[in-house]
Amino acid sequence: MLTIYNTLTRKKEEFKPLHPGVVNMYVCGPTVYNYIHIGNARSAIAFDTVRRYLEFKGYKVNYVSNFTDVDDKMIKAAAAQGITVPQLAEKYINAFMEDTEAINIEPATLHPRATENINEIIKFIRGLVDKGYAYAKDGDVYYRARKFKDYGQLSGQSLDDLEVGASEHVSADEVNKKEDPLDFALWKAAKPGEINWDSPWGKGRPGWHIECSVMSTKYLGKTIDIHAGGQDLEFPHHENEIAQSEAENGQKFVRYWMHNGFVTIGKDNEKMSKSLHNFITVHDIIKEVDPQVLRFFMATTQYRRPIQYSQANLTDAQNNLDHIQTAFDNLTYREQDAGNDEDQNVEDQLKTFRTQFITAMDDDINVQNGIATVYELVKYANVYAQQKQVSLTAIKAIKDELAELMSIFGVKLVASDNKIDDEKIKQLIEERNLARKSKDFARSDQIRDDLKKQGIILEDTPQGTRYKKE
Ligand SMILES: [Zn+2]
Repeated sequence: MLTIYNTLTRKKEEFKPLHPGVVNMYVCGPTVYNYIHIGNARSAIAFDTVRRYLEFKGYKVNYVSNFTDVDDKMIKAAAAQGITVPQLAEKYINAFMEDTEAINIEPATLHPRATENINEIIKFIRGLVDKGYAYAKDGDVYYRARKFKDYGQLSGQSLDDLEVGASEHVSADEVNKKEDPLDFALWKAAKPGEINWDSPWGKGRPGWHIECSVMSTKYLGKTIDIHAGGQDLEFPHHENEIAQSEAENGQKFVRYWMHNGFVTIGKDNEKMSKSLHNFITVHDIIKEVDPQVLRFFMATTQYRRPIQYSQANLTDAQNNLDHIQTAFDNLTYREQDAGNDEDQNVEDQLKTFRTQFITAMDDDINVQNGIATVYELVKYANVYAQQKQVSLTAIKAIKDELAELMSIFGVKLVASDNKIDDEKIKQLIEERNLARKSKDFARSDQIRDDLKKQGIILEDTPQGTRYKKE
């Protein structure tokens, strides 16, 4: 039985989607004014992993994740770069798709943008004004937070505490327009020269929170199964989404709220974080770190736990991943001399591993215990690959099992047929030295070129030939 920790009720609950077999899931996406940072990546990886597990369980997942393509940060960044807001959005949406593809995040079923939904947003706000939940003031429109009786339910704080929190998120000119400090903007009047749309309240643009209520309702329905995002979105963003959606739609907005933990920067990366003002982008990381290692590292920490981004933790992830790859290659190597008989024992053992894996993951997507099962399977695979006689069906079954479980963590396991080991490289260097001695330069050049194609660079030094892997 799959259980999920619901932030709203603060307990693990049995997961039952509204419509059997289908999960409607909305994940708050980034504001596209820059490359995505490591915190965005954590959220995207955490919920891509949840999605993959739900699909593994046989659910059809409708996964919607938005792009916030107009807001204060967008307007500021576009002006600084001397381009328009839509140009800025285009640039960083493309970058988002490239960066997330590199870390093997499946594209959402839909990636709607706020600016594609302005008519729907206006209609939604009008509905709230008509019902008395919102009011216009000098071209802005605000939501009356205290009128919504359950305001504060998600963050579990008193209205007084929320009032203090809310004040951190508003500009001084907003404060004077609001009836109550807790109220928040649904629509903002455009300042001269700013991007704007016509509305019943004058030229302006949507506030941030309203777009998610509108797009979630439009693309997934009034009540959805899962709404997810970073812990920092609980208040005010998600609290406000509930208030807007339930006031307008008159029914429960979200059945399970999921929030991922923070990323902290480890000591050995302190220097890096300072120079980049704590804004480490995926775009930069994957220039130095194998994207698959980054993915594996983040996907194997349970989504609610904090992650410490550090070189030491990345190295651990790299070693674990290498270990799994080696087991996979050991099995592949034995395919050539494997027999054709079945091996019931292996089949039974694989079923046991799978049951164990599902039990782990069903407990609020406990990936740490899930990956522990994969390591046991790896141990088993290595022992099996050393047997005198092996069965081809059994080898394929173990490989399939490994590949399928690893795919939930977003890692594509493929045999590294072309991987060339150090022993082989040394032999070839020896052969090349002999060729050079006998002035067979055609042969020595060929060896150098062949190695280069496989990512091995030779360097001739006075002390002899060294090599490095690209
Ligand atoms: Zn959102």
